[in-house]
Amino acid sequence: MTKSNKRVLPVFEGKQKEQYERLMRAREIVMGQMEQHAADALDIENNDKRGVTTHMADMSSDNSRHEMELRLLTEEGNVLQMIEEAIERLIDGEYGRCIECGDQIPDKRLEIRPHAIYCVKCKSRFEKMGYFSKHD
Ligand SMILES: [Zn+2]
Repeated sequence: MTKSNKRVLPVFEGKQKEQYERLMRAREIVMGQMEQHAADALDIENNDKRGVTTHMADMSSDNSRHEMELRLLTEEGNVLQMIEEAIERLIDGEYGRCIECGDQIPDKRLEIRPHAIYCVKCKSRFEKMGYFSKHD
């Protein structure tokens, strides 16, 4: 008998259940956006190959659109990763704790950014230092 690789999720209750569902929703939204942007980027690439864009002006706007789609895709990939890490941390019982100082991140903040890993205090300190992840 081979054991399934699929991770068995603990049964979340109460607040954790809410947090878990919020993270899963956020994950779904980001994945949907990524799919859309990947499709758009591919579309632009295919148009290029078909020679649909013949004018220089069109080409450059297509290039920048393509770049923008790819940039969005990268950013969304980062957010997706953070969401998945947050889910892991929820499973480990570490969710909602600032990874810098260990303080509890307020629920209000987690509602807006379920993948937040810093409390506001640490985040603003990083901002002042010029180190700042714009996704957090
Ligand atoms: Zn902190």
